[in-house]
Order: sequence, then C-alpha cells, then structure tokens
Amino acid sequence: MQTPVPEYLAHVIDQCENNQTGKLADYIPELAHANPDQVALAMSTVDGQIYAVGDEDIEFTIQSMSKPFTYAYVLQQLGLDEVLDKVGVEPSGEAFNEISLGHDKRPKNPMINSGAITTHSLIPIKDQLESAEIIRRFMSELAGRELCFDEAVYASEIKTAYRNLSIGYMLRTVGILETDPVDIVNGYIRQCSILVTVKDLVKMGSILANGGIDATTGKRLLNRDVVRQVLSVMMSCGMYDAAGDWLTTVGIPAKSGVAGGILGVLPGQVSIAAFSPRLDEHGNSVRGIEMMERLSRDMGLHLMEGTPSAQTIVQSHYRTGKNASTSIYVLRGVLKFTEAEMLLRIFQGEAVDESTIVIDLTQISLIHDVGKRMFLEGVDRLIDDGHSVLLVDPEQRLEQARTHKDRVLHVYQNMDELLEK
Ligand code: GLN
Repeated sequence: MQTPVPEYLAHVIDQCENNQTGKLADYIPELAHANPDQVALAMSTVDGQIYAVGDEDIEFTIQSMSKPFTYAYVLQQLGLDEVLDKVGVEPSGEAFNEISLGHDKRPKNPMINSGAITTHSLIPIKDQLESAEIIRRFMSELAGRELCFDEAVYASEIKTAYRNLSIGYMLRTVGILETDPVDIVNGYIRQCSILVTVKDLVKMGSILANGGIDATTGKRLLNRDVVRQVLSVMMSCGMYDAAGDWLTTVGIPAKSGVAGGILGVLPGQVSIAAFSPRLDEHGNSVRGIEMMERLSRDMGLHLMEGTPSAQTIVQSHYRTGKNASTSIYVLRGVLKFTEAEMLLRIFQGEAVDESTIVIDLTQISLIHDVGKRMFLEGVDRLIDDGHSVLLVDPEQRLEQARTHKDRVLHVYQNMDELLEK
C-alpha cells in the first residue's frame, strides 16, 4: 500500500488554489517578478521522512525565515546571556520592519528586523569569512545540501534598503550595534537572500523539531536549550503583529518570509513548510496561512492540543515464574517527567518482598534526563524493598545503568537472553 500523506497534502493545496487575494512584496523590486500562482507544501517527520507536493522544487529566497536560524547560530556560539544582553524576547505587536526599540533600548525580539539585524551583528567571524557566508554554510548543513545566494534579489533589496538602514543607524546610535551599520545591514540582507525550496525548509525545521539532532545523520547540530529558546521565540513573535491570531488558530511555532514562505515546527512531531508568494498586510503568505490552518485543524497539530502521553507508559504487565514471583513490565513511548511519575506510582503497588522485577525498555523511544533520574531512583527503591531488578535495553540508554546508590544494574540485550539465564 502507499501512504495517503502526499495525497492529503495535495488536497490541501487544491483547496487553497482558488484564493488569489494578497499582493506580492514589491518593496524589494525583484520579488515583484515572482509568479504569484506558485504554491508548494512539504512536511518532514522527526525521523527524517519528507513529503512534498506542488511547486516543491521551486527555489525562493528565505527572507525572514532565516531569522530563527541565525538566532540559533549565535545562541549556540555565544550562549543565551550574551545574546539576551542585545536582543529581547517580547512580542512587539508591531510590523516586522518597525523602526522602534524596547524601553531598555534593546530590539524587542529577534524575529523583527531590528532584532534580526542585531542578531546578525553577533555572528562571530571565523576564518575571515563574511557573516552571511558563515550563515549560508550553517543553513546548508541543516538543509543537508549546499544552499546559494540569490544575487539578483540581494542586489535589488540593497538598492532600496532605506528602512533597514535607518534601523541599523538607530541601533548604532544606542550602541546595540558596535560596528558600521551599513556592513551589518548588508550582511543581514544577504542572509535573507539565501535560496531554499519547501523541502529544504522542512529539513532545516526537522532539526528543530527533533531537539537539535539531524535524524538522517544522527549528528547533534544544535543544543537542546538553544532549540527550546528558538522555538519559544518563534511561537510568540514569529508571525509579527499577527502572532496572537496565529497562536490561537494554528498553534505551531512558525516564521514567515516576504518571498511567500512559512515554516512551522512542532516540537517532537513534524515540521511543515508552505510557499505561495501573495502576502497579506502583515507580510505573511495568504495561501501559506490557509494551508497551515487547515493542516493544524485536520491533523490536530495545535500545540495546546497536546494529548496526555503518560497513560501509555506501561504497555503490558504480567507475572510469571514459580508462584508468579517475577513481575514483568513492558514499557513503551517516551520517558519524561509525567511518564516517570506514573511508572513509579505503578511500582508502588509491588509488595515489599524478594521477588524479581523485569523492566523491558526496548520500546521506549526516548529517555529524557529527568525521566532517567526518576527511573533509576525508582529502581533503587525497589531494590531497597528487597527486589532484584533486571533491565532489558538493547540500546543501553541508561549508559552504565548505575543507580543513585551506585548500584550497577544488569542490562540484558533482549528478553530471550534474560530468559536463558
Ligand atoms: N529581507 C526582508 C526585510 O528585511 C525580510 C523581511 C521578511 O521576510 N519579513 O525587509
């Protein structure tokens, strides 16, 4: 059989294709040459499966969707405090290109131009590369292919960059920018001119959705706390003065760009990218919003619709052996605080005696740090009660399986190995 996901995505495109409202961005003259009817949609799962339909191979400039990635880059390089010194995290409720600052003189957030120009100025220069080239390389690594600049769009935006230049001079006046604002604005505009397809965007987004790890290579590209910071800011500020509307209707951390792209990232689940060039009054793609709204509604992707996961932590529990003295727990899903709490509550039901408890972690897909700590604490307490505890974990995710009381647990590769003993 074939998965219906691509057909479903194509259906979403069909449904929005009649919508011809909105206008091309024309303050960047080159963008006014885009074909307004183009439309594409892509989705990536956290394990790296990409689905894409429509004009999926059409390249367009990333524009403001570059902002979260540059923010991620500088956070990764400099740490949160140094970045927070220069750029805030409050939604501005203003247009993306507003010439304004917060009361403390910092730009309100890194998703509007003033914040993004500031973020760009923080890129540590290495190997004498230009700042935009450093970002192009970083984004290429996330996308898993070599991305290029669109020289025509870059040149066109530079020619009419009066507004971004005034923002640059304002930032320089208050000392937020510490070097020549013209160079920094140039670099920022070049960063915005990187060409991507919806497939590139979902690939880049999937690394954020996957907590910073590239699922196809297994390589960690961003720290978990960096990803959390970036997604939080995307959630509150990514859609500018339409952020509240977006949060209630779509509920997916997202970022739009004036070439018509929107990238949404749902932590732990999917990344979605939509593209169609006509924009609404906020500078967000009209069809892009419509497609994202539909996907969120139809597939229950709204962040606030989180389903309780803990109920499934114990997939099965049975007793075996002489006098049913061995208790076997088969676990499933993700082991975080809520699941660990539920599990330890279930373990409370084990009588204080010398019976054996087997815990099979084979089907646990992720063990969060707090989940691991609580789990090992629970094991210690079971042992204190007189039980012997045996674990099955083929991936050895508890590392040395050393409990807080420094007991080293025996970990079996699989149930068969354990039963042989
Ligand atoms: N390069 C564009 C600008 O600075 C990006 C804006 C956007 O995509 N919203 O105006």
